[in-house]
Amino acid sequence: MKYISTRGNYKNVTAAEAIRLGMVPPGGLFVPAEIPQLAPAEIEKMKEYNYQETAKQVLSKFLTDYTEEELREAISAAYNSQNFASPEITPIYKLSEKTYVLELWHGPTAAFKDLALQLMPHLLVQAINKIDLKRKILILVATSGDTGKAALEGFKDVPGIEIIVFYPQDGVSKIQKHQMETTKGDNTYVVAVEGNFDDCQNSVKEIFGDEEFKQVIKEQGYQFSSANSINWGRLVPQIIYYFNAYARLLAKGEIEAEEEINIVVPTGNFGNILAAYYAYRMGLPVNKFICASNDNRVLADFFATGTYDIKREFKKTISPSMDILISSNLERFLFEVTGQDAEKINSWYEELNQKQSFSIDEQTQAKISEIFVGLAVSEAETKQRIKDTYQQHDYLIDTHTAVGVEAYQKYTADNNEQSKTIIAATANPYKFCSTVFEAISEQGSTQKSDEFEILEKLNKETDFEVHPSLKELSAEQIKHKLNCQVTEIKESIKELLALE
Ligand SMILES: *Cc1c(COP(=O)(O)O)cnc(C)c1O
Repeated sequence: MKYISTRGNYKNVTAAEAIRLGMVPPGGLFVPAEIPQLAPAEIEKMKEYNYQETAKQVLSKFLTDYTEEELREAISAAYNSQNFASPEITPIYKLSEKTYVLELWHGPTAAFKDLALQLMPHLLVQAINKIDLKRKILILVATSGDTGKAALEGFKDVPGIEIIVFYPQDGVSKIQKHQMETTKGDNTYVVAVEGNFDDCQNSVKEIFGDEEFKQVIKEQGYQFSSANSINWGRLVPQIIYYFNAYARLLAKGEIEAEEEINIVVPTGNFGNILAAYYAYRMGLPVNKFICASNDNRVLADFFATGTYDIKREFKKTISPSMDILISSNLERFLFEVTGQDAEKINSWYEELNQKQSFSIDEQTQAKISEIFVGLAVSEAETKQRIKDTYQQHDYLIDTHTAVGVEAYQKYTADNNEQSKTIIAATANPYKFCSTVFEAISEQGSTQKSDEFEILEKLNKETDFEVHPSLKELSAEQIKHKLNCQVTEIKESIKELLALE
Protein backbone atom coordinates (compact mmCIF):
# COMPACT_ATOMS: atom_id res chain seq x y z
CA MET A 1 0.00 0.00 0.00
CA LYS A 2 1.38 3.38 -1.04
CA TYR A 3 0.70 6.72 0.62
CA ILE A 4 0.04 9.89 -1.35
CA SER A 5 -0.21 13.59 -0.53
CA THR A 6 -3.61 15.33 -0.27
CA ARG A 7 -2.07 18.14 -2.32
CA GLY A 8 -0.54 15.99 -5.04
CA ASN A 9 2.85 17.58 -4.35
CA TYR A 10 5.01 14.64 -3.26
CA LYS A 11 6.20 11.25 -4.36
CA ASN A 12 4.42 8.09 -3.20
CA VAL A 13 5.84 6.66 0.02
CA THR A 14 5.46 3.50 2.12
CA ALA A 15 3.52 3.49 5.40
CA ALA A 16 6.80 3.47 7.32
CA GLU A 17 7.99 6.58 5.48
CA ALA A 18 4.66 8.36 5.97
CA ILE A 19 4.85 7.66 9.71
CA ARG A 20 8.47 8.75 9.95
CA LEU A 21 7.84 12.00 8.05
CA GLY A 22 4.68 12.91 10.00
CA MET A 23 3.36 15.28 7.36
CA VAL A 24 4.13 15.86 3.70
CA PRO A 25 7.27 18.04 3.70
CA PRO A 26 6.04 20.72 1.24
CA GLY A 27 2.60 20.82 2.97
CA GLY A 28 -0.35 18.45 2.83
CA LEU A 29 -1.09 15.18 4.61
CA PHE A 30 -0.39 11.58 3.77
CA VAL A 31 -3.33 9.31 2.99
CA PRO A 32 -3.49 5.74 1.70
CA ALA A 33 -3.60 5.66 -2.11
CA GLU A 34 -6.69 3.49 -1.93
CA ILE A 35 -8.93 2.50 0.97
CA PRO A 36 -8.73 -1.22 1.81
CA GLN A 37 -12.02 -3.10 2.06
CA LEU A 38 -13.47 -5.47 4.64
CA ALA A 39 -16.31 -7.65 3.39
CA PRO A 40 -19.46 -8.05 5.55
CA ALA A 41 -18.43 -11.61 6.41
CA GLU A 42 -15.01 -10.40 7.60
CA ILE A 43 -16.66 -7.80 9.81
CA GLU A 44 -19.09 -10.34 11.24
CA LYS A 45 -16.19 -12.65 11.97
CA MET A 46 -14.72 -9.96 14.24
CA LYS A 47 -17.34 -10.98 16.84
CA GLU A 48 -14.97 -13.77 17.73
CA TYR A 49 -11.90 -11.52 17.93
CA ASN A 50 -10.49 -9.75 20.94
CA TYR A 51 -9.18 -6.19 20.64
CA GLN A 52 -5.69 -7.30 19.71
CA GLU A 53 -6.91 -9.56 16.92
CA THR A 54 -9.09 -6.83 15.47
CA ALA A 55 -6.09 -4.51 15.67
CA LYS A 56 -4.02 -6.99 13.74
CA GLN A 57 -6.57 -7.29 10.98
CA VAL A 58 -7.12 -3.55 10.54
CA LEU A 59 -3.45 -2.58 10.77
CA SER A 60 -2.28 -5.23 8.35
CA LYS A 61 -4.61 -3.79 5.70
CA PHE A 62 -2.90 -0.40 5.88
CA LEU A 63 0.66 -1.09 7.03
CA THR A 64 1.57 -3.54 4.30
CA ASP A 65 5.30 -2.84 4.56
CA TYR A 66 5.35 -3.97 8.21
CA THR A 67 5.84 -7.67 8.88
CA GLU A 68 3.29 -9.73 10.78
CA GLU A 69 5.84 -10.12 13.53
CA GLU A 70 6.36 -6.36 13.81
CA LEU A 71 2.64 -5.71 14.04
CA ARG A 72 2.16 -8.44 16.61
CA GLU A 73 4.99 -7.01 18.74
CA ALA A 74 3.65 -3.46 18.56
CA ILE A 75 0.10 -4.56 19.36
CA SER A 76 1.05 -6.58 22.40
CA ALA A 77 3.33 -3.82 23.69
CA ALA A 78 0.50 -1.30 23.36
CA TYR A 79 -2.78 -3.02 24.16
CA ASN A 80 -2.09 -4.94 27.34
CA SER A 81 -3.36 -5.01 30.91
CA GLN A 82 -0.50 -2.87 32.18
CA ASN A 83 -1.51 0.04 29.96
CA PHE A 84 -5.27 -0.41 29.96
CA ALA A 85 -7.36 -0.78 33.05
CA SER A 86 -10.01 -2.78 31.17
CA PRO A 87 -9.30 -6.16 29.54
CA GLU A 88 -11.63 -5.14 26.72
CA ILE A 89 -9.37 -2.08 26.12
CA THR A 90 -12.36 0.02 24.95
CA PRO A 91 -15.45 -1.34 26.78
CA ILE A 92 -18.97 -0.29 25.86
CA TYR A 93 -21.46 1.06 28.38
CA LYS A 94 -25.10 0.75 27.41
CA LEU A 95 -26.63 4.09 28.31
CA SER A 96 -30.17 3.49 27.05
CA GLU A 97 -32.19 1.34 24.68
CA LYS A 98 -30.43 2.59 21.56
CA THR A 99 -27.31 4.38 22.77
CA TYR A 100 -23.95 2.95 23.67
CA VAL A 101 -21.03 4.84 25.14
CA LEU A 102 -17.69 3.70 23.78
CA GLU A 103 -15.29 4.27 26.69
CA LEU A 104 -12.02 5.29 25.10
CA TRP A 105 -10.45 6.49 28.33
CA HIS A 106 -9.06 3.40 30.06
CA GLY A 107 -5.46 4.04 28.94
CA PRO A 108 -2.57 5.45 31.00
CA THR A 109 -3.50 9.14 30.60
CA ALA A 110 -7.29 8.77 30.84
CA ALA A 111 -8.16 10.08 27.36
CA PHE A 112 -8.70 8.45 23.96
CA LYS A 113 -5.34 9.66 22.61
CA ASP A 114 -3.74 6.68 24.40
CA LEU A 115 -5.26 4.23 21.92
CA ALA A 116 -3.09 5.74 19.21
CA LEU A 117 -0.13 6.94 21.22
CA GLN A 118 0.58 3.70 23.01
CA LEU A 119 0.95 2.01 19.62
CA MET A 120 2.50 4.67 17.42
CA PRO A 121 5.93 4.93 19.07
CA HIS A 122 6.50 1.25 18.26
CA LEU A 123 5.46 1.81 14.65
CA LEU A 124 7.82 4.77 14.45
CA VAL A 125 10.82 2.95 15.90
CA GLN A 126 10.16 0.06 13.51
CA ALA A 127 9.92 2.56 10.63
CA ILE A 128 13.30 4.04 11.52
CA ASN A 129 14.85 0.58 11.67
CA LYS A 130 13.35 -0.34 8.30
CA ILE A 131 14.67 2.77 6.62
CA ASP A 132 17.98 2.22 8.42
CA LEU A 133 18.24 5.77 9.56
CA LYS A 134 21.14 6.84 11.70
CA ARG A 135 19.55 10.08 12.82
CA LYS A 136 17.63 10.59 16.03
CA ILE A 137 13.99 11.51 15.77
CA LEU A 138 12.80 14.74 17.34
CA ILE A 139 9.07 14.64 18.02
CA LEU A 140 7.42 18.05 18.26
CA VAL A 141 3.92 18.10 19.68
CA ALA A 142 1.38 20.89 19.89
CA THR A 143 -1.32 19.92 22.35
CA SER A 144 -4.66 21.18 23.55
CA GLY A 145 -4.04 19.04 26.63
CA ASP A 146 -4.54 15.34 26.07
CA THR A 147 -2.20 14.60 23.17
CA GLY A 148 0.72 16.05 25.12
CA LYS A 149 0.56 13.69 28.05
CA ALA A 150 -0.38 10.69 25.91
CA ALA A 151 2.60 11.33 23.60
CA LEU A 152 4.96 11.84 26.55
CA GLU A 153 3.86 8.53 28.07
CA GLY A 154 4.11 6.74 24.73
CA PHE A 155 7.57 8.07 23.84
CA LYS A 156 9.30 8.43 27.21
CA ASP A 157 12.61 6.56 27.33
CA VAL A 158 12.16 5.21 23.79
CA PRO A 159 15.75 4.95 22.45
CA GLY A 160 16.61 7.25 19.54
CA ILE A 161 13.76 9.66 20.25
CA GLU A 162 13.49 13.07 21.93
CA ILE A 163 10.08 14.63 22.48
CA ILE A 164 9.14 18.26 23.12
CA VAL A 165 5.54 19.17 23.94
CA PHE A 166 4.12 22.71 23.61
CA TYR A 167 0.82 23.50 25.28
CA PRO A 168 -1.21 26.71 25.67
CA GLN A 169 -0.36 28.02 29.14
CA ASP A 170 -3.93 28.90 30.12
CA GLY A 171 -5.67 26.47 27.78
CA VAL A 172 -5.51 23.16 29.64
CA SER A 173 -7.12 21.84 32.83
CA LYS A 174 -5.13 21.73 36.08
CA ILE A 175 -5.04 17.96 35.97
CA GLN A 176 -3.82 17.96 32.38
CA LYS A 177 -1.09 20.46 33.31
CA HIS A 178 -0.04 18.42 36.32
CA GLN A 179 -0.01 15.24 34.25
CA MET A 180 2.41 16.79 31.76
CA GLU A 181 4.62 18.56 34.32
CA THR A 182 5.22 15.35 36.25
CA THR A 183 6.28 13.22 33.27
CA LYS A 184 9.37 11.12 33.88
CA GLY A 185 11.91 10.02 31.26
CA ASP A 186 15.24 11.52 30.17
CA ASN A 187 14.05 12.34 26.67
CA THR A 188 10.94 14.38 27.54
CA TYR A 189 10.50 18.17 27.51
CA VAL A 190 7.38 20.21 28.22
CA VAL A 191 6.95 23.92 27.46
CA ALA A 192 3.99 26.18 28.35
CA VAL A 193 3.33 28.70 25.56
CA GLU A 194 1.74 32.12 26.06
CA GLY A 195 -0.86 31.62 23.34
CA ASN A 196 -3.73 29.32 22.35
CA PHE A 197 -3.68 25.86 20.77
CA ASP A 198 -3.88 27.16 17.19
CA ASP A 199 -0.79 29.33 17.89
CA CYS A 200 1.08 26.25 19.13
CA GLN A 201 -0.07 24.06 16.22
CA ASN A 202 0.74 26.72 13.59
CA SER A 203 4.24 27.28 14.99
CA VAL A 204 4.98 23.58 15.02
CA LYS A 205 3.66 23.16 11.45
CA GLU A 206 5.82 26.09 10.33
CA ILE A 207 8.88 24.53 11.92
CA PHE A 208 8.19 21.28 10.05
CA GLY A 209 8.30 23.27 6.80
CA ASP A 210 11.38 25.37 7.73
CA GLU A 211 14.18 24.06 5.50
CA GLU A 212 16.88 26.13 7.16
CA PHE A 213 16.00 24.91 10.61
CA LYS A 214 15.75 21.33 9.37
CA GLN A 215 19.32 21.69 8.17
CA VAL A 216 20.40 22.96 11.60
CA ILE A 217 18.94 19.99 13.41
CA LYS A 218 20.17 17.61 10.72
CA GLU A 219 23.72 18.70 11.38
CA GLN A 220 23.17 17.75 15.01
CA GLY A 221 21.99 14.29 13.98
CA TYR A 222 18.23 14.87 14.32
CA GLN A 223 15.19 14.85 12.10
CA PHE A 224 11.63 15.86 12.86
CA SER A 225 8.54 13.78 13.18
CA SER A 226 5.08 14.49 14.51
CA ALA A 227 2.90 12.77 17.06
CA ASN A 228 -0.12 14.94 16.26
CA SER A 229 -3.01 13.49 14.33
CA ILE A 230 -1.53 14.94 11.15
CA ASN A 231 0.65 11.78 11.34
CA TRP A 232 -0.98 8.77 9.70
CA GLY A 233 0.46 6.64 12.49
CA ARG A 234 -1.92 8.43 14.87
CA LEU A 235 -4.99 7.89 12.74
CA VAL A 236 -4.75 4.27 11.72
CA PRO A 237 -4.92 2.85 15.30
CA GLN A 238 -8.14 4.79 15.85
CA ILE A 239 -9.91 2.87 13.09
CA ILE A 240 -9.56 -0.32 15.16
CA TYR A 241 -11.95 0.60 17.96
CA TYR A 242 -14.85 1.41 15.65
CA PHE A 243 -14.71 -2.07 14.16
CA ASN A 244 -14.19 -3.59 17.58
CA ALA A 245 -17.19 -1.70 19.00
CA TYR A 246 -19.41 -2.80 16.12
CA ALA A 247 -18.29 -6.41 16.58
CA ARG A 248 -18.98 -6.24 20.35
CA LEU A 249 -22.53 -5.04 19.67
CA LEU A 250 -22.96 -7.89 17.18
CA ALA A 251 -21.62 -10.39 19.69
CA LYS A 252 -24.04 -9.18 22.37
CA GLY A 253 -26.97 -9.35 19.96
CA GLU A 254 -27.57 -5.61 20.24
CA ILE A 255 -27.40 -5.25 16.46
CA GLU A 256 -27.70 -7.60 13.52
CA ALA A 257 -25.13 -8.26 10.84
CA GLU A 258 -24.88 -5.37 8.36
CA GLU A 259 -27.13 -3.15 10.49
CA GLU A 260 -26.28 0.52 10.07
CA ILE A 261 -25.39 2.50 13.17
CA ASN A 262 -24.80 6.17 13.97
CA ILE A 263 -21.46 7.33 15.30
CA VAL A 264 -21.21 10.47 17.44
CA VAL A 265 -17.79 12.00 18.08
CA PRO A 266 -16.93 15.13 20.10
CA THR A 267 -14.53 16.76 17.70
CA GLY A 268 -11.63 19.20 17.59
CA ASN A 269 -8.87 18.41 15.12
CA PHE A 270 -11.21 16.01 13.25
CA GLY A 271 -8.91 13.01 13.80
CA ASN A 272 -11.13 10.69 15.78
CA ILE A 273 -14.19 11.17 13.58
CA LEU A 274 -12.04 10.83 10.46
CA ALA A 275 -10.89 7.42 11.68
CA ALA A 276 -14.57 6.46 11.98
CA TYR A 277 -15.12 7.70 8.43
CA TYR A 278 -12.25 5.54 7.16
CA ALA A 279 -13.84 2.57 8.93
CA TYR A 280 -17.06 3.37 7.05
CA ARG A 281 -15.26 3.60 3.73
CA MET A 282 -13.70 0.20 4.49
CA GLY A 283 -17.13 -1.33 4.91
CA LEU A 284 -18.43 -0.54 8.43
CA PRO A 285 -22.21 -0.04 8.12
CA VAL A 286 -22.90 3.57 9.15
CA ASN A 287 -26.09 5.56 8.80
CA LYS A 288 -24.94 8.99 10.02
CA PHE A 289 -21.88 10.60 11.57
CA ILE A 290 -22.65 13.28 14.11
CA CYS A 291 -19.76 15.69 14.49
CA ALA A 292 -20.19 17.47 17.83
CA SER A 293 -18.52 20.84 18.44
CA ASN A 294 -18.33 23.07 21.50
CA ASP A 295 -18.64 26.89 21.32
CA ASN A 296 -15.77 26.89 18.80
CA ARG A 297 -18.35 25.83 16.28
CA VAL A 298 -16.29 26.16 13.12
CA LEU A 299 -17.08 22.58 12.04
CA ALA A 300 -20.79 22.76 12.88
CA ASP A 301 -21.01 25.89 10.72
CA PHE A 302 -19.04 24.20 7.96
CA PHE A 303 -21.40 21.24 7.81
CA ALA A 304 -24.40 23.57 7.81
CA THR A 305 -23.16 26.04 5.18
CA GLY A 306 -20.30 24.52 3.19
CA THR A 307 -18.06 27.41 4.24
CA TYR A 308 -15.07 26.85 6.50
CA ASP A 309 -14.38 30.17 8.15
CA ILE A 310 -11.75 30.69 10.83
CA LYS A 311 -12.21 34.47 11.04
CA ARG A 312 -13.80 34.30 14.45
CA GLU A 313 -13.00 34.61 18.10
CA PHE A 314 -11.19 31.67 19.68
CA LYS A 315 -13.20 30.66 22.74
CA LYS A 316 -11.87 28.99 25.84
CA THR A 317 -14.40 26.40 26.95
CA ILE A 318 -14.91 23.71 29.58
CA SER A 319 -14.02 21.12 26.90
CA PRO A 320 -10.52 22.50 26.22
CA SER A 321 -9.29 19.56 24.12
CA MET A 322 -11.78 20.66 21.48
CA ASP A 323 -10.81 24.36 21.55
CA ILE A 324 -9.56 24.42 17.99
CA LEU A 325 -10.42 26.47 14.93
CA ILE A 326 -8.10 24.81 12.43
CA SER A 327 -9.17 21.19 12.24
CA SER A 328 -6.18 19.71 10.41
CA ASN A 329 -7.75 16.40 9.45
CA LEU A 330 -10.66 17.98 7.62
CA GLU A 331 -8.20 18.18 4.72
CA ARG A 332 -7.97 14.38 4.56
CA PHE A 333 -11.75 14.09 4.73
CA LEU A 334 -12.28 16.56 1.88
CA PHE A 335 -9.66 14.76 -0.17
CA GLU A 336 -11.53 11.48 0.26
CA VAL A 337 -15.08 12.80 -0.31
CA THR A 338 -14.03 14.56 -3.50
CA GLY A 339 -12.70 11.25 -4.83
CA GLN A 340 -9.08 12.28 -4.06
CA ASP A 341 -9.17 15.58 -5.92
CA ALA A 342 -5.80 17.15 -5.02
CA GLU A 343 -6.50 20.14 -7.25
CA LYS A 344 -9.58 21.10 -5.24
CA ILE A 345 -7.73 20.61 -1.96
CA ASN A 346 -4.92 22.84 -3.17
CA SER A 347 -7.20 25.65 -4.19
CA TRP A 348 -9.31 25.48 -1.00
CA TYR A 349 -6.31 25.45 1.32
CA GLU A 350 -4.60 28.19 -0.67
CA GLU A 351 -7.76 30.22 -0.17
CA LEU A 352 -7.82 29.39 3.54
CA ASN A 353 -4.26 30.62 3.78
CA GLN A 354 -5.04 33.91 2.07
CA LYS A 355 -8.59 34.72 3.18
CA GLN A 356 -8.96 32.56 6.29
CA SER A 357 -11.98 30.86 4.75
CA PHE A 358 -13.08 28.75 1.81
CA SER A 359 -16.35 27.41 0.43
CA ILE A 360 -16.75 23.99 -1.11
CA ASP A 361 -18.85 23.37 -4.22
CA GLU A 362 -22.51 22.36 -3.95
CA GLN A 363 -21.93 18.89 -5.27
CA THR A 364 -19.36 18.10 -2.57
CA GLN A 365 -21.57 19.67 0.08
CA ALA A 366 -24.52 17.53 -0.99
CA LYS A 367 -22.38 14.43 -0.83
CA ILE A 368 -21.18 15.29 2.68
CA SER A 369 -24.73 16.04 3.90
CA GLU A 370 -25.85 12.53 3.01
CA ILE A 371 -23.75 11.12 5.81
CA PHE A 372 -22.51 13.95 8.09
CA VAL A 373 -24.34 16.20 10.52
CA GLY A 374 -22.51 18.89 12.47
CA LEU A 375 -24.01 20.21 15.72
CA ALA A 376 -22.68 22.70 18.25
CA VAL A 377 -23.31 22.55 21.99
CA SER A 378 -23.11 25.51 24.41
CA GLU A 379 -21.35 25.59 27.77
CA ALA A 380 -24.64 25.59 29.70
CA GLU A 381 -25.99 22.68 27.66
CA THR A 382 -22.80 20.71 28.27
CA LYS A 383 -23.07 21.09 32.04
CA GLN A 384 -26.77 20.31 32.04
CA ARG A 385 -26.08 17.13 30.05
CA ILE A 386 -23.49 15.97 32.58
CA LYS A 387 -26.04 16.49 35.35
CA ASP A 388 -28.94 14.86 33.50
CA THR A 389 -26.86 11.87 32.49
CA TYR A 390 -25.79 11.41 36.08
CA GLN A 391 -29.29 11.76 37.45
CA GLN A 392 -31.03 9.67 34.81
CA HIS A 393 -28.47 6.94 34.30
CA ASP A 394 -26.20 7.11 37.36
CA TYR A 395 -23.32 7.45 34.93
CA LEU A 396 -20.60 10.08 34.96
CA ILE A 397 -19.34 11.66 31.74
CA ASP A 398 -16.65 14.28 31.17
CA THR A 399 -17.17 17.64 29.49
CA HIS A 400 -16.06 16.46 26.02
CA THR A 401 -18.20 13.34 26.07
CA ALA A 402 -21.10 15.51 27.25
CA VAL A 403 -20.79 17.62 24.10
CA GLY A 404 -21.24 14.38 22.12
CA VAL A 405 -24.19 13.13 24.18
CA GLU A 406 -25.93 16.50 23.97
CA ALA A 407 -25.35 16.77 20.21
CA TYR A 408 -26.95 13.35 19.85
CA GLN A 409 -29.99 14.48 21.91
CA LYS A 410 -30.36 17.48 19.60
CA TYR A 411 -30.10 15.24 16.58
CA THR A 412 -32.78 12.81 17.75
CA ALA A 413 -35.08 15.68 18.74
CA ASP A 414 -35.06 16.82 15.09
CA ASN A 415 -34.99 13.44 13.37
CA ASN A 416 -37.26 10.51 13.77
CA GLU A 417 -34.80 7.78 13.10
CA GLN A 418 -34.13 4.59 14.91
CA SER A 419 -30.53 3.55 14.30
CA LYS A 420 -28.51 2.31 17.24
CA THR A 421 -25.85 4.85 18.14
CA ILE A 422 -22.32 4.71 19.45
CA ILE A 423 -21.11 7.82 21.27
CA ALA A 424 -17.35 8.17 21.69
CA ALA A 425 -16.42 8.93 25.33
CA THR A 426 -13.11 10.67 24.86
CA ALA A 427 -11.95 11.36 28.41
CA ASN A 428 -12.47 10.04 31.92
CA PRO A 429 -14.71 12.38 33.97
CA TYR A 430 -12.07 12.80 36.71
CA LYS A 431 -9.73 14.40 34.20
CA PHE A 432 -12.04 17.44 34.19
CA CYS A 433 -13.33 17.00 37.71
CA SER A 434 -13.89 20.67 38.65
CA THR A 435 -16.42 21.24 35.92
CA VAL A 436 -17.99 17.82 36.35
CA PHE A 437 -18.36 18.43 40.09
CA GLU A 438 -19.85 21.88 39.53
CA ALA A 439 -22.30 20.42 37.03
CA ILE A 440 -23.66 17.67 39.25
CA SER A 441 -23.48 19.40 42.65
CA GLU A 442 -24.73 22.90 41.75
CA GLN A 443 -22.20 24.34 44.16
CA GLY A 444 -21.20 27.21 41.91
CA SER A 445 -17.61 27.82 40.98
CA THR A 446 -14.86 25.61 42.35
CA GLN A 447 -12.16 27.87 40.87
CA LYS A 448 -10.42 28.49 44.16
CA SER A 449 -10.38 24.93 45.46
CA ASP A 450 -7.58 22.47 44.97
CA GLU A 451 -8.19 20.21 41.97
CA PHE A 452 -7.26 17.06 43.84
CA GLU A 453 -9.60 17.85 46.72
CA ILE A 454 -12.40 18.22 44.21
CA LEU A 455 -11.46 14.88 42.70
CA GLU A 456 -11.96 13.26 46.08
CA LYS A 457 -15.21 15.09 46.70
CA LEU A 458 -16.51 13.97 43.33
CA ASN A 459 -15.58 10.42 44.15
CA LYS A 460 -17.34 10.59 47.55
CA GLU A 461 -20.43 12.11 46.04
CA THR A 462 -20.78 9.71 43.09
CA ASP A 463 -18.92 6.52 44.00
CA PHE A 464 -17.79 6.44 40.36
CA GLU A 465 -14.41 4.72 40.27
CA VAL A 466 -11.39 7.02 39.99
CA HIS A 467 -9.12 6.29 37.02
CA PRO A 468 -6.01 4.49 38.33
CA SER A 469 -3.55 6.96 36.77
CA LEU A 470 -5.29 9.90 38.47
CA LYS A 471 -5.36 8.32 41.93
CA GLU A 472 -1.67 8.85 42.59
CA LEU A 473 -1.15 11.92 40.46
CA SER A 474 -1.22 14.56 43.21
CA ALA A 475 1.80 12.96 44.89
CA GLU A 476 3.94 13.01 41.73
CA GLN A 477 6.93 15.39 41.60
CA ILE A 478 6.88 18.30 39.15
CA LYS A 479 9.78 17.93 36.72
CA HIS A 480 8.98 20.42 33.96
CA LYS A 481 8.54 24.18 34.48
CA LEU A 482 9.49 25.87 31.21
CA ASN A 483 7.53 28.53 29.36
CA CYS A 484 7.92 30.77 26.30
CA GLN A 485 6.19 33.20 23.94
CA VAL A 486 4.68 31.98 20.67
CA THR A 487 7.54 33.67 18.80
CA GLU A 488 10.16 31.89 20.90
CA ILE A 489 9.18 28.30 20.14
CA LYS A 490 11.99 27.74 17.67
CA GLU A 491 14.54 29.30 20.03
CA SER A 492 13.38 27.12 22.88
CA ILE A 493 13.90 23.97 20.80
CA LYS A 494 17.46 25.06 20.12
CA GLU A 495 18.08 25.70 23.80
CA LEU A 496 16.61 22.42 24.96
CA LEU A 497 18.70 20.40 22.54
CA ALA A 498 21.73 22.66 23.02
CA LEU A 499 21.82 23.37 19.27
CA GLU A 500 23.93 26.17 17.80
C1 LIG B 1 -8.31 15.36 21.45
C2 LIG B 1 -9.63 15.29 22.13
C3 LIG B 1 -10.84 15.50 21.43
C4 LIG B 1 -10.86 15.91 19.98
O1 LIG B 1 -10.43 14.87 19.14
P1 LIG B 1 -10.01 15.14 17.63
O2 LIG B 1 -9.50 13.86 17.11
O3 LIG B 1 -8.92 16.19 17.71
O4 LIG B 1 -11.20 15.67 16.92
C5 LIG B 1 -12.04 15.32 22.11
N1 LIG B 1 -12.05 14.99 23.41
C6 LIG B 1 -10.93 14.79 24.11
C7 LIG B 1 -11.02 14.44 25.55
C8 LIG B 1 -9.68 14.92 23.51
O5 LIG B 1 -8.56 14.71 24.21
